[in-house]
Amino acid sequence: MRAVVVGAGINGVTAAIALRKRGHDVDLVDPGPLPHPLAASTDISKAVRAAYGADEFYTELAERCVPLWREWNQQFGFTLFHEVGFLFMRRTPMQEGDFEFETANVFARRGHKFARFDADEVKRRFPIWNTSRFCEGLFEPEAGYVDATRVVTTLISHATKLGVRLQGSSSFADLIENGRVTGIALQDRQRLFADAVVMTAGAWTPQLLPFTKDFLRATGHPIFHLKPSRPELFRAEKFPVFGADISATGYYGFPINGDGVVKIGVHALGHEASAKSEDRSVGAKEETQLREFLTETFPQLADAPIVFAHTCMYCDTNDGDFWIARDPGRPGLTIATGDNGHGFKFAPILGELIADAVEAKPNPLLQKFRWRPEVRVGVTKEAARYAG
Ligand SMILES: Cc1cc2nc3c(=O)[nH]c(=O)nc-3n(C[C@H](O)[C@H](O)[C@H](O)COP(=O)(O)OP(=O)(O)OC[C@H]3O[C@@H](n4cnc5c(N)ncnc54)[C@H](O)[C@@H]3O)c2cc1C
Repeated sequence: MRAVVVGAGINGVTAAIALRKRGHDVDLVDPGPLPHPLAASTDISKAVRAAYGADEFYTELAERCVPLWREWNQQFGFTLFHEVGFLFMRRTPMQEGDFEFETANVFARRGHKFARFDADEVKRRFPIWNTSRFCEGLFEPEAGYVDATRVVTTLISHATKLGVRLQGSSSFADLIENGRVTGIALQDRQRLFADAVVMTAGAWTPQLLPFTKDFLRATGHPIFHLKPSRPELFRAEKFPVFGADISATGYYGFPINGDGVVKIGVHALGHEASAKSEDRSVGAKEETQLREFLTETFPQLADAPIVFAHTCMYCDTNDGDFWIARDPGRPGLTIATGDNGHGFKFAPILGELIADAVEAKPNPLLQKFRWRPEVRVGVTKEAARYAG
């Protein structure tokens, strides 16, 4: 089979690899430069964790991915996955129904490693936290972050070695349809014919395929890179990946990296945006809110200069679940997107899932990510239920 994969973020590159490994002839198309600076997949860090509150489906999926991330570290010969742990802090004691309490329950039931810390223990182990505001924590040790840009770069290089044809300066313009989808037209008017077209264009999807606007929408979410004057305070042993009462505040962040940068993000409903716009600046209001959050949470980071701020785009579905499915109305087309801000951690299994959808190979997981236009976009809390 000949397949064209549109978009070389994490969904596209893993799909291209999986399809190629199954013997298909694969083109991977992206306007570039790669990794694309505006892609959701391009960033210094993405959280990997199995904590999903009461949602055991994603917990189980993430549990499958952690050993595979470790394998990628071995296979590629360097650390893509930094297993430094994830600390979920709360401003009020954990109680039934909240994210941390339910996560602990699921972890206990599944025999997953975790620890609960009171304020004294947090102060001892993670002294940067203001424990007069944050009183309790849940620590997931077999979690951490991946260097997302490096993951995509590594996988693109791996894909080309496997024989994927990289069209790294080509933009999708339209589907070629002839009773079924038989390929794509590029912006330079070239045409690529294929038995299967796989759209993995993330937040660009609603704009490139306008019929998806009823069930997919792009939303913008700020991230900040800060350079603290005392980097030693923010090393992973003392400052692992964190969620700061994330269901209430939306703030999460990462330990200092090799460039002396601490990244902080905000996960919330976000604002509806178009990936078409190349303006990804962050508003003054969001910066003020960040400073307030830092003053309350990590006073020693409150005045650190912001060296980079960026609005990153999610592709949201209204139920928070991914969308990996063949279009029943357009044979030959598969759409794999709907990351809802939490898809990167599943990179080690995404490609196989997408390839199964393309090949119509039965896979029980695909039921969750099925074609479901009845779940229409709208501003509800559901769209923001998963952070990072
Ligand atoms: C702020 C933020 C924080 C996040 N944090 C986490 C986290 O901590 N943990 C986690 O697991 N997940 C996280 N995510 C989610 C994760 O980033 C996404 O699940 C993942 O990156 C989505 O990948 P993608 O391949 O679908 O889209 P993208 O990475 O956006 O890739 C889409 C690609 O399509 C290409 N494209 C655009 N237009 C065209 C065209 N005309 N023709 C061809 N190609 C085109 C783009 O150039 C791009 O390369 C976060 C997302 C954001 C935005």
